[in-house]
Amino acid sequence: MSRTLQAVRGMNDLLPAALPLWQFVERQARELFAAYGYQEMRVPLVEHADLFQRSIGEQTDIVEKEMYTFEDRGGDRLSLRPEATAGLVRAAIENGLLHNQRHRLWTSGPMFRHERPQQGRYRQFHQIDCEAFGYEGPDIDAEMILLSARLWQRLGLGGLRLRINSLGTPESRREYRAQLVDYFTRHRDQLDADSLRRLDGNPLRILDSKNPALAAIVAGAPALTEHLDPASREHFERFQQLLAAGGIDFTIDQRLVRGLDYYSRTVFEWTTTALGAQDAVCSGGRYDGLVAQLGGEPTPAVGWALGVERLVSLLQASGIAAPPGPPGVYVVLAGERALLAGLPLAERLRAALPGVTVEVNLGGGGFKAQLRRADRSGARLALILGDDEVARGVAALKDLRGAGPQQDCAWDELPARLRALLE
Ligand code: ATP
Ligand code: MG
Repeated sequence: MSRTLQAVRGMNDLLPAALPLWQFVERQARELFAAYGYQEMRVPLVEHADLFQRSIGEQTDIVEKEMYTFEDRGGDRLSLRPEATAGLVRAAIENGLLHNQRHRLWTSGPMFRHERPQQGRYRQFHQIDCEAFGYEGPDIDAEMILLSARLWQRLGLGGLRLRINSLGTPESRREYRAQLVDYFTRHRDQLDADSLRRLDGNPLRILDSKNPALAAIVAGAPALTEHLDPASREHFERFQQLLAAGGIDFTIDQRLVRGLDYYSRTVFEWTTTALGAQDAVCSGGRYDGLVAQLGGEPTPAVGWALGVERLVSLLQASGIAAPPGPPGVYVVLAGERALLAGLPLAERLRAALPGVTVEVNLGGGGFKAQLRRADRSGARLALILGDDEVARGVAALKDLRGAGPQQDCAWDELPARLRALLE
């Protein structure tokens, strides 16, 4: 096949067989967001490149190396979104959602980053994301953790570990930053090119380096939590109390700084040991300065995003299958009169039995071939209509998963009988 007829590297097709697990995750998340009072919001996949540069930060991996940025036919510089927060903040400001209001929101969809494709790391990947605007205290930080923990529980996942840290405020980071620059300057000869570049502009980023050669030098760096301002310290302590009260286990990781510039105070990451190097399943934190930085009224904010591909892989690695789909009836149509009667009959059954799959055999085929298709469809029952059944106003019901005898049923009685048989 010519290269242009292949998917773009790092962008995956999701075939029908893979979808039930995805839908399981999405359904559980959707139900949980509703249960916690989060409202769904949807924003464009494409934004002005400038939005991401100003929010995520110039000296980050995402903006420096990973964005899909292009000029459109009108000459605008646009980017495919690498994450959801910036777009949601932009939309909240633009639509006046932040004036004297509080919002708990969620969204989901594809994100784009030009990274090196590998297991758990793709160029188009999917996130489920929640954000809260207008909540200043650590209660919402804790609620967001509780919500994610409940999602793992609902999905049947164990073994996820929560790491937390506090980045303090930009002011309190200044002093720390100076110490960090001092420390890394003393170890200059051990830094890689990225880190050297960041030493002046954004030394905290060095702590987030994925280069294993830097692990030792990063481990020896001074710790941020020792430089927290009193209010951030209190926020962090209260956050921990609330987590403990909610029965959430966590560890404090002083090196956790997260790969985006806009975070302040609380940051956190859920990781797993079951997926190898790409171990972060869900991550987020507080970004109290971002709304004002993008031109909105100062508004405290916090959020997280989970990677759906990684979560689905984790479900697979844990041997968790999607719950079975809706029970099904496969309608076998033997003959021309059966087709004429069968299509409207199937419509009546779908109207009477919401939540039941009524799949009609289309494209003809012999009786045996149709029964084979019925079997492969996963349906529990075959509903058989031949010319004889149509003449008598009945359908024959055959249990595809058990050995019960085939039985005739009058059309009017079908909904009640099917309901009973599919229970
Ligand atoms: P990582 O440290 O693995 O690069 P990140 O810090 O860049 O992750 P975030 O920007 O916080 O990740 O995105 C939130 C979640 O989205 C991550 O925890 C991860 O599960 C998922 N994710 C991020 N980048 C990718 C990717 N390229 N492919 C698949 N999932 C991803
Ligand atoms: Mg990354």
